[in-house]
Amino acid sequence: MSHDATCIFCKIVEGKIPAKKVYEDEDILAFHDINPWAPVHILIIPKRHITSMVDVGPAEQALLGKMMAVSPRLMLELGVTNGYRHLINTGADGRQEVMHLHLHVMGGPRPWLKG
Ligand code: 5GP
Ligand code: ZN
Repeated sequence: MSHDATCIFCKIVEGKIPAKKVYEDEDILAFHDINPWAPVHILIIPKRHITSMVDVGPAEQALLGKMMAVSPRLMLELGVTNGYRHLINTGADGRQEVMHLHLHVMGGPRPWLKG
């Protein structure tokens, strides 16, 4: 499935729900988390609906590489200069809440709310 009409992040990709976007290209979108754990907390997602890491295989290698590789530049642009944390939650035990693959990137001065 490349798009799920019930998925909140697909709706953000489509512009049906607003988000504070920080980066976009043909494959991926980055935006601020609505409920940030850290002074800077962004989510980087594939535009295509991929439910979770469970659905990732060799065909997604370049896509996931792109999501990771753009993150240092985005954090620098957002003023984060003292380190950050990457996180992907998968499935129920991984406490994934939104079932559209997303990479959390969190940074900024501590203390943080979580993480
Ligand atoms: P998960 O627990 O699935 O890894 O994280 C989902 C994240 O998505 C949470 O940090 C939550 O705050 C964020 N989130 C949920 N709904 C929205 C939304 O509509 N807009 C934005 N920007 N973030 C959202
Ligand atoms: Zn989706």
